[in-house]
Amino acid sequence: MTAAPPAEAPPRQEELGSNVPPESPEPAPVPVRPLRGPVKVVHAFWLAGMSCDGCSIAATGATNPSVEDLLTGGVSGLPTVVLHHPVLSVENGEEFIKPFQMASDGELDAPYVVIYEGSIADESLAAQTGGYWSAMGDQAIEDGERPFPTAERLAAMAPNAAAVIAIGTCATWGGIPSSIGNPTGAMSIMDFLGADYRSALGLPVINIPGCAPVGDNFTETVATILMFLQGMGPLPEFDELGRPAWLFGETVHRGCTRAGYYEEGIFAENYGDKECLVEVGCWGPVVNCNIVSRGAQSHMGGCMAAGGVCIGCTMPGFPDKFSPFYKAPPGSSISSTASKSVGFGIRRLRSLSNRALSREPRWDRVYDGEVPSGWGKIQKPDVVDDVVHFFYEKIQFNGSRRPGRSDGRNWATDVPEHVPRPEAPASRAEGPK
Ligand code: SF4
Ligand code: SF4
Repeated sequence: MTAAPPAEAPPRQEELGSNVPPESPEPAPVPVRPLRGPVKVVHAFWLAGMSCDGCSIAATGATNPSVEDLLTGGVSGLPTVVLHHPVLSVENGEEFIKPFQMASDGELDAPYVVIYEGSIADESLAAQTGGYWSAMGDQAIEDGERPFPTAERLAAMAPNAAAVIAIGTCATWGGIPSSIGNPTGAMSIMDFLGADYRSALGLPVINIPGCAPVGDNFTETVATILMFLQGMGPLPEFDELGRPAWLFGETVHRGCTRAGYYEEGIFAENYGDKECLVEVGCWGPVVNCNIVSRGAQSHMGGCMAAGGVCIGCTMPGFPDKFSPFYKAPPGSSISSTASKSVGFGIRRLRSLSNRALSREPRWDRVYDGEVPSGWGKIQKPDVVDDVVHFFYEKIQFNGSRRPGRSDGRNWATDVPEHVPRPEAPASRAEGPK
């Protein structure tokens, strides 16, 4: 959400000031109202910096809860959210900007949260050529007006906000705009507001990373904060980087549908293969992200489900520490070689068990191992299979109880005496009698 510099009469640099280091204005007095307790309405002010608007799109795709649920009071017990969004709001011009100013001035009669999308650029760099990076509305200056940088709006609104939520990797860690080179001096909200920042509820910046983030991660976090604000629940748990702990506590790899292939040492060689993608560039084992369990939208899609490798887009080191993308990550050859050597034996033993378990006990009992399938001739276990299985079973059941009856009979092979034993058919075509 950047805009071109004004065509004429650029404001002087000293008028524009710098946001590096951040110079937060004096916080407005905290309004005299309880911060927690039943409230009917909570305002959500959405600001955008160096952003592609992908976070807005991701949020609008959330389903559990959806943005519509939050805006219409559709989540039981939660206050109605009044969203002030530069793209989604129907108000425009002065009517749209006024509530932002009222929040900065402590004049709103309801609590509010600030949501910031995109990283914060160094406005003093743009000011050197009379421009700006990210602004919304105008601000009166000595000899006229100037575009009001969204970073300064954030600085003005943050002290009285119930919470400041950084959405997306640009806002949480700096993201792509702050990658090496960084011509705009881009930084995260944490960098901008500083380690000492606390909201009116005493919260540091809340971070929902992802490029783009999972929409549900955002709406669910908002809902839990609203529950806390409403006095209906405890403050949800955040980790040391301000991420919702229950959403970012696990690595991608732990929930990946391809992790079984990794464990058995089977790896994709090309994109489009169904196996584990680590050798074609997946960083999943060391990345905190829940897209494998949450899906991209409505529990559907997500990187590995769509055949893509994890490039670490939720991580503070993204993108510099993960590029070049689509190359085997450093260290992956150690773990994949270990998986291959262990997996080679394990998957053969599993294949034995799989074949034994794919046989209905009746087929062994009545048909002497023949399978009455019209679909094809299924190989009976041969002598080698039987010998290997005999010794494998010794290991399998070492220290564990065999499935079956307490008298030692195996339910899979032993038939209770009162059950009549049918005679085996003369041939498969004849069928059981
Ligand atoms: S594709 Fe990536 S996340 Fe999935 S199992 Fe392989 S390394 Fe782990
Ligand atoms: S799996 Fe990796 S690339 Fe995909 S969303 Fe999660 S962190 Fe980003």
